[in-house]
Amino acid sequence: MTEHSIALSKTTSKKEKPNPAELTFGEKFTDHMFILDYDQDKGWYDPRIVPYQPISVDPAAMVYHYGQTVFEGLKAYLTDGGDVNLFRPEKNINRLNRSNARMCIPAIDENLALQAIKQLVALDAEWVPNLSGTSLYIRPFVIATEPYLGIAPSKQYKFIIILSPVGAYYKEGINPVKIAVENEYVRAVKGGTGEAKTAGNYASSLKAHEIVEAQGFSQVLWLDGLEKKYIEEVGSMNVFFKIDGEIITPALNGSILEGVTRNSVIQLLKYWNVPVIERAIAMDEIYQAHRAGKLEEAFGTGTAAVISPIGTLAWNKEILEINNNKTGDISKKLYDTLTGIQYGKQEDVFDWVIQL
Ligand SMILES: *Cc1c(COP(=O)(O)O)cnc(C)c1O
Repeated sequence: MTEHSIALSKTTSKKEKPNPAELTFGEKFTDHMFILDYDQDKGWYDPRIVPYQPISVDPAAMVYHYGQTVFEGLKAYLTDGGDVNLFRPEKNINRLNRSNARMCIPAIDENLALQAIKQLVALDAEWVPNLSGTSLYIRPFVIATEPYLGIAPSKQYKFIIILSPVGAYYKEGINPVKIAVENEYVRAVKGGTGEAKTAGNYASSLKAHEIVEAQGFSQVLWLDGLEKKYIEEVGSMNVFFKIDGEIITPALNGSILEGVTRNSVIQLLKYWNVPVIERAIAMDEIYQAHRAGKLEEAFGTGTAAVISPIGTLAWNKEILEINNNKTGDISKKLYDTLTGIQYGKQEDVFDWVIQL
């Protein structure tokens, strides 16, 4: 791998670090950030790490008007031995470029992006919090910066990486959540942008979230955009069901975001010889399985929560209680194994971890 040279300008006034016990999600930011610029004539240029600061962008910048932007989310974990681990960062960088391709944003050199993440995290390593379950969230993103109100791909971009120390997702251990099946709004349709991690998908999901949150649910379960029949994802997590001993997750069909956690869960299940299948699943099939007493577990997967067991699923007038609203054995084992690998407490049989 070629070493890129990333210019470094260090902060002269380090910020005070937050108390790890009081961390939430995405509210505090570290001392430095990475920036890479793009211009149609020059390509991507001027990779640099600078003090964390506001950026100056023209109000006509295309991102503000037409939403040409993509992002990623991954984490750095502190081990008991004081090392900093990244979990499969190359998967996130590869997905960033797939999102870029969908949004007409030029591809970024994946080696440079990985090196940028590593160098930035290493520089701000003292911000990786040391309390169980906490981590340093890494947010790479691209924005279209050309000042132009015509609808076309921008000729200028910025690729930026910022870091945010985040608290434990489960403060009192892994716990089941209440989910509402969304029958009115949809997240994505085939041919749309559901496969890309792009801002508009999240802006358009806020309404459904707002409504179900007021009813006491923590997330929505999205159905397909055409028939509202097949299960897609839950909130910003992929979703798995255990029915009669077999684990089922919706196949990647063009409107589902391909999670790194989803991929890791499938690999682990196969390694354990647990039957796992990717296919279309109708919500009615889940309902019927529940009625027959065969819906054993349901859980979401994503970088933030890792595994989020679903204890209650509301669909039309039906309330499905799953596994007596308790965390199931497979959910627990997946959670313990994945977090064990991430924090360096368990053998990393798949070579998923990159140590800084
Ligand atoms: C990011 C995301 C996921 C989960 O992806 P991970 O790589 O596992 O964090 C799932 N669905 C949506 C819509 C997402 O944005």
